[in-house]
Amino acid sequence: MGDNIINFYAGQPPLNRVAFQRHSSELMNRNLHDPTTKFLVFKSGNPLMKKGQVGQVLYLSKEDIGDRLGKEFGAAPPDSPPDAKKIYEGSRLPQTLAALVFLGIDDRQSPTNNSSSQVEHHNPKGTAYFAIDAGSEEWDLEKLNAEFGEARASGSAMTPWDAAVFAQGRALIDWNVRNKFCPACGSNTYSLWAGWKRNCISSVEPVPGKEPCFSTKGLHNFAYPRTDPVIIMGILDSTGEKMLLGRQKSWPKGMYSCLAGFIEPGETFEDATRREVLEEAGIEVGPVRYSSSQPWPYPSNLMVGCFGRAEDGQTIRLDLDNELEDAQWFPRSTIQSVIASPTGSTFTKKDYKQLDDKSTSASDAETSAALAPSEKKSEELKPKQGELGLSRVPPGTAIAGQLIRQWAEGGLDLVSKL
Ligand SMILES: [Zn+2]
Repeated sequence: MGDNIINFYAGQPPLNRVAFQRHSSELMNRNLHDPTTKFLVFKSGNPLMKKGQVGQVLYLSKEDIGDRLGKEFGAAPPDSPPDAKKIYEGSRLPQTLAALVFLGIDDRQSPTNNSSSQVEHHNPKGTAYFAIDAGSEEWDLEKLNAEFGEARASGSAMTPWDAAVFAQGRALIDWNVRNKFCPACGSNTYSLWAGWKRNCISSVEPVPGKEPCFSTKGLHNFAYPRTDPVIIMGILDSTGEKMLLGRQKSWPKGMYSCLAGFIEPGETFEDATRREVLEEAGIEVGPVRYSSSQPWPYPSNLMVGCFGRAEDGQTIRLDLDNELEDAQWFPRSTIQSVIASPTGSTFTKKDYKQLDDKSTSASDAETSAALAPSEKKSEELKPKQGELGLSRVPPGTAIAGQLIRQWAEGGLDLVSKL
């Protein structure tokens, strides 16, 4: 059983996603034109923020967005057979329109529940939210008194509610922007289901004399937004008084975090935990237990936090995959004093940039887990004298920071549960 922790970027949930509505261009257009509807704007993954106000998201209205929306959500040509109508549900055509995603409705004032009618469930009352990509369009930021904030720094400074809306919007806009071509035939793709699906354009514009693209039928996951699971490990010694933390050369000075890695196809959480800790630190792990998870929109991970216990007396080895600059067992008292220190989880804009600049390797989950992905080269891994002292751990907004705090603050009798 997990620990039922609500992590940052996760919600309760923040919005009622009303998946039922995504299929209806009519409902989507009604939401689109509602003057109370709010739009969260992204440019290269960076959210529109109130200028100079840290963590303050600037949601725009339809009036602010103006003609940047382009056409409304489309519908099938009037004489289409019922089957063909499906491929136009909540569609955005032509496919060159800016990515637009329906995030859901803020129905906190009158939430639906089990005794609500079907009509109420399908039409919750509240404010609709969309995310839109600014693309290469110029925006009059001066007039809006706005700026595009660096994603990680802005996201981590938001209120938990805004951060959860931001995480959903960023992951969805990013997925739409990155998947412009059909993986089956290379044609363009177009958006439907109000940004929650992408189809091969050949479904709506068949090429005469050409076989239909095979992505238009059968079972596949070409068409839906993906979530890539990453495992984050809080590995304890037999007494539970020490935790295994590591650092990469590219990270800000003094920062250590939990080990982490992508879950590979055919693995369970437990398998991935044991494999990653062995690869990165040469340590064999016994019992493993799931703790909590966290959506991580950089770009589309689900962080899965686990605790594990290792047998004592093993030697830490970094030579197997040379991914870490250092790894050590840290006593709880040491970690407690780092957390209690005023700078123990402080990361500046420069630190975020340093992590971001290195974030080119999709296979590097450590930095994602701690803050951001990074790339390492073996020649960069030789430690420099005096740089291996622990002075910082990830903030509680990252799941690695959460696992470290759960253990350090002794909120759980972790070892007895392993
Ligand atoms: Zn295709």
